Amino acid sequence: MQHFLSVRNLSANTIETILERAEVIGGTREQHTGRYFAANLFFEPSTRTKMSFVVAERNLGMDTLDFHTETSSTAKGESLYDTVRTYESIGADLLVIRHANDNWCDELGSSISVPIINAGSGKGEHPTQCMLDLYTIKQEFGAFQGLNVAIAGDIKHSRVARSHVSALKTVGANVYFVNVPGFMDESLDIPSLTMDEACTMCDVVMLLRIQHERHGNGACDTTSYLEKFGLTIERERKMQNHAIIMHPAPVNRNVEIDTRLVECDRSRIFQQMENGVAVRMGIMDYLLAERSVFV
Ligand code: ASP
Repeated sequence: MQHFLSVRNLSANTIETILERAEVIGGTREQHTGRYFAANLFFEPSTRTKMSFVVAERNLGMDTLDFHTETSSTAKGESLYDTVRTYESIGADLLVIRHANDNWCDELGSSISVPIINAGSGKGEHPTQCMLDLYTIKQEFGAFQGLNVAIAGDIKHSRVARSHVSALKTVGANVYFVNVPGFMDESLDIPSLTMDEACTMCDVVMLLRIQHERHGNGACDTTSYLEKFGLTIERERKMQNHAIIMHPAPVNRNVEIDTRLVECDRSRIFQQMENGVAVRMGIMDYLLAERSVFV
């Protein structure tokens, strides 16, 4: 594997191998003692993804190269391609990229030789979020086969949902969408449930944020969203004893989830963030070891 841009073509075996590597390597530090540079090129805002990459890179013993759109040549109109080629030319061993364009991976994947990790491509994919969510589910249930996973929220504008649908099916889970009018993506052939049905029958209820910034016509009215489609205290009580709540965050408290549930016993929201470091270490180590950058 040259880059880590998508989960679509990963086999169940490769997914398991990366998750196992994350389990072994997560929590360790300074794995590699050579001089390696990782560049974090975030053209869109990020807290969790960017910072967990930085921690993961430093845990692996890499130096991190930072980037800010406002103070870089992007502000002078430099293209994504030229920025990426610049980091490649000055010696980055690994590029972590997030950009609003859904298709940047197709454009860069074939022209850049340094390994690239997709940290978010518009509404396209978010493969490292997907891997850390799989890790969290496996940590909880031990396996994926036959698990019922409901994804609820603004599926239409979510890169997280697109990655999850593909990878969860690959590992044998049953995926359902919660039907929120206007937020469904009919191009994805997934059975839908109401939020009440999802809470009653699913092992995992995964909530997504309303992605106002991708709606094009400004923020939508969320006044009655929680009661109609969100995770209320009443719905949480209907969940099975073993069932868990997940959310890639940032969370809109009291919109997709009642604020009192964000850190309740069955919530794994902060566990997902913690796992993000180990999984990103696992992915980078897998990629760089395969390319013999890490020896
Ligand atoms: N953090 C996730 C992402 O970057 C989810 C979100 O922003 O709602 O896509």
